[in-house]
Amino acid sequence: MSMDGFKLDGKVALVTGAAQGIGRAISIALADAGATVVVSDIAAKSSAVDAVCVEITAAGGTASACELDVTATSRLAAVFDGVVADSGRLDILVNNAGILVRKPALEITEEDWDRVFSVNLRGLFFCAQAAAKHMVARGDGRIINIASQRALSASAGNAPYIASKAAVAGLTRALALDWISSGITVNAVGPGPVDTPLLADASPEMDLDIVRRSPAGRRLQPEEIAGAVVYLASPAAAAVNGHLLLVDAGWTIA
Ligand code: NAD
Repeated sequence: MSMDGFKLDGKVALVTGAAQGIGRAISIALADAGATVVVSDIAAKSSAVDAVCVEITAAGGTASACELDVTATSRLAAVFDGVVADSGRLDILVNNAGILVRKPALEITEEDWDRVFSVNLRGLFFCAQAAAKHMVARGDGRIINIASQRALSASAGNAPYIASKAAVAGLTRALALDWISSGITVNAVGPGPVDTPLLADASPEMDLDIVRRSPAGRRLQPEEIAGAVVYLASPAAAAVNGHLLLVDAGWTIA
């Protein structure tokens, strides 16, 4: 196979939660690989989304901003229809939006539980469904869900988050089979601890623990996660389906 199989020229990709952190890095990498990128996030992040678009455009790529709250499920169809109307197609969805509630399990409220699951699992599923409706019609598509290495491991004080990420890995396998005859692949990426605002509230003790327990001895950078997403979005990964690709610098195996 030629290296053209790793290029995304002519493809249209939408990334959720893309104003900062891993989603921002994924958007920049997809654009660098040739895709037109729809950079989406909640309304409160619109200026950061615009900044990501400016950065992509300045580097010679193509990007547009989109307001998309993955929990506003009744509006998802209209948002995805709008993207297809504006960009002509949708080839790649990266379900990146995710939140964390850090609390001991005895203190988790129903509201905490529902908030985490409404973004990390429910919102992810309905974005996948809204995107797949367009992809099925074209007989082609790539859906990449950002799970976590916590889909396969655990830490104290993160019960809803860890449960939601394990569920994302299971949902990834389920959707891969649901849509297998439609030319759509559904895969997940499982990052280890990454230096983003999500971990900004980590205590110095938690930071030390991350560094001590990680074989790499450090947090990862968002850019280190993006390559796996570009690969799974590319023609080169056509035979990879339902997979959880860990990008954790060896954390899970250590
Ligand atoms: P982050 O907090 O820096 O960024 C998350 C983005 O999601 C934010 O821009 C936020 O506005 C957006 N978001 C939140 N709620 C949303 C909603 N309802 N609709 C749309 N967007 C919404 O976090 P990050 O570290 O960049 O995390 C990105 C993904 O990677 C998440 O799914 C996270 O669980 C996963 N992840 C992160 C790490 C890590 O160590 N940082 C490790 C493994 C997995």
